[in-house]
Amino acid sequence: MTCREFAEFLDAFLAGTLPSEQALAFQRHLAICADCIAYLDSYQRTMAACRTLRGEDALPADVPEELVEAILRSRGGRR
Ligand SMILES: [Zn+2]
Repeated sequence: MTCREFAEFLDAFLAGTLPSEQALAFQRHLAICADCIAYLDSYQRTMAACRTLRGEDALPADVPEELVEAILRSRGGRR
């Protein structure tokens, strides 16, 4: 997977609609690409900010944020 594909699949991945094969490739790319980790991080902050602004913060999240956090943490994500 390339960074461009990563960006294209990001929505589907976060929505949980990405086919498992692609989700795997997605996570594999996320494990090796600092750029995409940073991209995902800022993307999620933006999404969270939007939800907060719309007052939807309490919605049950489709977003596997814990999974993402775990991935980021396992990378030793220091910024
Ligand atoms: Zn990348």
